Amino acid sequence: MDVYGLLGNPVGHSLSPPMHEAAYDDCGLEARYVTFEPDEGDIEDAIHGADALGIAGLNVTIPFKQAALEIVAPEDLATRIGAVNTIDFSGSGPPTGYNTDAVGALRALRDHDVGIDGARAVVVGAGGAGRAIAFGLADAGARVAIANRTEATAHALAEEVPRASGHGLAELEGLVANADVLVNATSVGMEEDATPVPADALHEELAVLDAVYRPLETRLLADAADAGATTVDGAWMLLYQGVEAFEIWTGRDAPVDVMNEALRARL
Ligand code: NAP
Repeated sequence: MDVYGLLGNPVGHSLSPPMHEAAYDDCGLEARYVTFEPDEGDIEDAIHGADALGIAGLNVTIPFKQAALEIVAPEDLATRIGAVNTIDFSGSGPPTGYNTDAVGALRALRDHDVGIDGARAVVVGAGGAGRAIAFGLADAGARVAIANRTEATAHALAEEVPRASGHGLAELEGLVANADVLVNATSVGMEEDATPVPADALHEELAVLDAVYRPLETRLLADAADAGATTVDGAWMLLYQGVEAFEIWTGRDAPVDVMNEALRARL
């Protein structure tokens, strides 16, 4: 029996256990996915303990993503993003740390036939999700404009991301008017009827990914659909970060449809 899990605090409402266990069942894998809530000061012991116990893989979420980077051997992308959300214990050396949020966002967009290479992308938000998505889009060939409420954070991130520019939210309308791809990586719209982007700025040439997945149809996505834009809800990103973790851990293609169904049944 292989044991996988999620390290975070709190993790009570996580959708990862049903999503991953549906994949194990579908693939006939003898495996379980469980949640762990260590105290904040115990993260290093928790990761080393998991390694010693033979746990096969861990996802990592708030508040441990940044600290995990210092404890495992991170991949280059995770180092640049500054956060690890997936740990693989299968190698003989120290556990390897990945950030699958970036790939999750890219695969969510590609699943909806959104081209990234050469695209003009706007990422609203420069926190954990914004960092991952900005690096992911830039690595895939997009020119990324990062707009953030705290403008200095957008400028600082733009210094790190190739071909990126940093902006305040006041510039959003102009940026979006000339964009092919728009991603909301703020928490605006989460369990509230609010949007970070004025509806007037949206247009039919745009593909809009909202990282927020509660509700599935945010105000931003409803406005984007009204404008004739392509819409991608946050559950697609959540799905594909899990798909990517499953594939890292097991070395096989994930049953994407099965995982998607298990996830959406709970949203
Ligand atoms: P975070 O690190 O706390 O960053 C929050 C971001 O939202 C910051 O850029 C912050 O701007 C901005 N923000 C917060 N309140 C705002 C407001 N009222 N107006 C404008 N901007 C505001 O959080 P995170 O981890 O990046 O998560 C952001 C969202 O993405 C959450 O809703 C989370 O659930 C979602 N998410 C989804 C996935 C997925 O797989 N679908 C994965 C990761 C995260 P300041 O810098 O100015 O504070």
